[in-house]
Amino acid sequence: MEQHPRPKGVVYLVGAGPGDAGLITVKGLRCLQEADVVVYDRLAGPRLMQYAKRGARKIYVGKLPDRHAMKQEDINRLLVELALEGHTVTRLKGGDPCVFGRVGEEAALLAEHGIRYEIVPGVTSAVAAPAYAGIPVTHRNRASSFCVVTGHESPDKLDEMIEWDKLTQATGTLLFLMGVAKLRYIAERLMAHGRAPDTPVALVRWGTRAEQATITGTLATIADEAERAGFASPAVIVVGEVVLERERLQWAERRPLFGRRVLVTRARDQASELTRRIEDAGGEAYEYPVIELRMPESPASREALSQALTRPDAYDWLVLTSVNGVRFWFRHLREHGADIRQWAHVRIVSVGPKTTEALREYGIQPDIAAAQFSQEGVWEALRPHAAAGQRALLARGDLSRPWLRKTMEAHGLHADEVDLYETVLPEEDDPELVEMLEQQMIHIVTFTSSSTVTNLLAALRRMGMDDPAQALRGAQIACIGEITARTAREAGLHVDATAASSTIDGLMEAMLELDKEKKTV
Ligand code: SAH
Repeated sequence: MEQHPRPKGVVYLVGAGPGDAGLITVKGLRCLQEADVVVYDRLAGPRLMQYAKRGARKIYVGKLPDRHAMKQEDINRLLVELALEGHTVTRLKGGDPCVFGRVGEEAALLAEHGIRYEIVPGVTSAVAAPAYAGIPVTHRNRASSFCVVTGHESPDKLDEMIEWDKLTQATGTLLFLMGVAKLRYIAERLMAHGRAPDTPVALVRWGTRAEQATITGTLATIADEAERAGFASPAVIVVGEVVLERERLQWAERRPLFGRRVLVTRARDQASELTRRIEDAGGEAYEYPVIELRMPESPASREALSQALTRPDAYDWLVLTSVNGVRFWFRHLREHGADIRQWAHVRIVSVGPKTTEALREYGIQPDIAAAQFSQEGVWEALRPHAAAGQRALLARGDLSRPWLRKTMEAHGLHADEVDLYETVLPEEDDPELVEMLEQQMIHIVTFTSSSTVTNLLAALRRMGMDDPAQALRGAQIACIGEITARTAREAGLHVDATAASSTIDGLMEAMLELDKEKKTV
């Protein structure tokens, strides 16, 4: 039989930017979302990996505490093999792939094998880290050029590679990457070749991330400063007058949530608003949704739904209590081949402006819109219009309290409850999160409902943590309201902040009041 060779895959060599996930390019993000396999290392950052599609293979080729990074030749070969297997591969690299990214070697081997590849440029740390420290690499009055230099090699090799005299005579800004370990040598060389000892210097470590730290000095002092501060890589060394602009232009570090990595545990489709608010305030959001809403699976729930959906005549009222409720209601209608016009005689009650808005999107103006987002609020709004003997369908999620049904029944109404959706713990593990918690790289954990508390603890246990409550001690905990806070305390967590109003605004306010220095360990 004739053998058809498998079609070859494609490799995208993508710049991930310096760390702030928002700094990946639109095209880079698309490559990441479409890849079957993502090959990444430490500088590319865990946050971006969340954009990989579900089920994508993620291969880490960076350094781990207990083993060396994969050799460059092995990475080159790995990319070739994956492509020959027919995969769409995204090789994610910190910063820009062409700036000390060894993209040339990867691309060369791909070309040799006739594999299609694309280079997707990124925002290099050489420019972005200084920018986030308030240092523009060029400036009308201070520098008309900049030069990006490696500091990676041993001193004799550096001497071979770098023409110190020419570099020193250039009037522009010098940016050394991979140079922290050689800082003293670099500073000495520059002075020996004629740069003034009082030339301003800045070191920006982990620029654009929650860990960003900056120190400044001069060529004469910076090595001692760095030693005193215990300053470690990765950092960009900035040499030149532009460093003086920092005093005026510093911005990123002044944002209220700067330096804080915040865990967002809400369901994926609800997380984005909170994430955006955190990022607007200068924090770094990390999403690990511990809640997923899905169609009910238990036969009893499905039966109850079928019953209700095929008997619109049996009801006078339909109560929908959330945006999710509205969405799932229409999914069920469709599944049952039903038509909303069959419910024309039923009066519809919605809770809260967002639920009302969701209904309007389907062309429905609710008859009653409860202003207060709670079961008590529904009853208050409904009560003046309801009469004993009427029948209501309470269509909600599986975790709702029975309060409204009981109250209606106490007033002589008939109320049927149906679960439009189930709240479950998603199946996907996140080893990065475990590692970040262990290394206390998560500074604030947010809980937006009681089930986010129980589910996060369950998920961490499933991922092998024996005592998740203990593991969360290294972070501060912020809850959206009292009920959530109580659940957290009952689970053995310390609660550092509780929103006064149970809204995202309230949660943000509560987070902004947290003491940045406080360590709860
Ligand atoms: N291709 C990358 C550079 C890779 S070389 C880029 O364009 O940014 C690795 C060096 O980059 C590190 O040693 C450090 O000097 C610098 N670097 C990378 N990310 C950084 C960051 N977020 N903050 C400061 N320096 C960074």
